[in-house]
Amino acid sequence: MESVGQTDPSKLSDAEWAELRHALGNQRMLGLNYYSGGHLSHGYRLNASATMFEVQSYDVDRETNLLDYDTIRDHARTFRPLILLAGYSAYSRRIDFSIFREIADEVGAVLMVDMAHFAGLVAGKVDGFAGPNDPVAHAHVVTTTTHKTLRGPRGGMVLSTDEFGEYVDKGCPMVLGGPMPHVMAAKAVAFTEASTPEFKTYARAIVDNASALASACIDNGMDILTGGTDNHLMLANIAHYGLTGRQAESAVREANVTLNRNSIPFDPNGAWYTSGLRFGTPALTSRGMGTTEMTEIASIMASVLSATKPRAITRGRLAGQLSKARATTDAETVDAARARVHDLLSAFPLYPDLDLDYLKKSFT
Ligand SMILES: *Cc1c(COP(=O)(O)O)cnc(C)c1O
Repeated sequence: MESVGQTDPSKLSDAEWAELRHALGNQRMLGLNYYSGGHLSHGYRLNASATMFEVQSYDVDRETNLLDYDTIRDHARTFRPLILLAGYSAYSRRIDFSIFREIADEVGAVLMVDMAHFAGLVAGKVDGFAGPNDPVAHAHVVTTTTHKTLRGPRGGMVLSTDEFGEYVDKGCPMVLGGPMPHVMAAKAVAFTEASTPEFKTYARAIVDNASALASACIDNGMDILTGGTDNHLMLANIAHYGLTGRQAESAVREANVTLNRNSIPFDPNGAWYTSGLRFGTPALTSRGMGTTEMTEIASIMASVLSATKPRAITRGRLAGQLSKARATTDAETVDAARARVHDLLSAFPLYPDLDLDYLKKSFT
């Protein structure tokens, strides 16, 4: 716009606008591959982000399943992205954001960190998110949701250095319409809660519980990627049960344990069936559960997975082959697992002060 002496896009000619649109649509972004734990919005081809940017992605190391900064640096040197993007939805180890910033500075990129998943752990100042692992201290721009570990209303937030403030503060007219004051109020409550000492205790307990859950899963024969976790979540490779992620997810959910299937790095079963389960501890920790309960939960999940077998396809072209979607769990195991889940939930009610008998009477 500067080159044609304009500051207002509505005053550009159609030809100038077409040229600008083309230039804006071809800027480069380098982010974590969806299959390595990145988010859909980090350039997954079916996501709008992939049509707005020319995207390339980095993966975790095939052997260690960890980020390899030297590989990322080499990639950034050759690709020279406008945006170097760090952050994840399914990665369980620390990230050194100071190295990411070094790489961004070296190649002239803006370092953006999407801390949607772990914002609560940053706010709660837990160990794995301090110093070089604190995104806010190192990134130019930090985006987050407010509804994950930050435990607020569904929504988002963008933080930036002064340098980028003016550009970031274009939500309206760029992508936002009318304000949502009810969500603003709820965010204010969430931020107030997140700045209390109690929230710090909560954040630390999330991480302690996740470590305990990962160890207990391993003790129960499960394959936890990278051998544990530094944050609130973990990924299990469930291939050795002879199941797909889809089957494992249904089986464990059948026992009233909520989690989701997730691809693991270089997943041979693709993004739909997958070979992984992803689960974490923020909600369990909110209910007041601790490491003892994590041991019980690991044992429940492992019992269900061990008692689940893929079903054979009975009709059609694939008759006789094993289904990738359907599986059957031994009924006694499911009943026992459900009973154990029920006991856990009864011991840690979500709203202990709520008079359930009174509510039942009022609504019947
Ligand atoms: C959840 C998440 C988002 C936002 O996704 P929503 O569908 O709006 O919840 C963005 N980035 C990352 C890394 C996420 O995990």
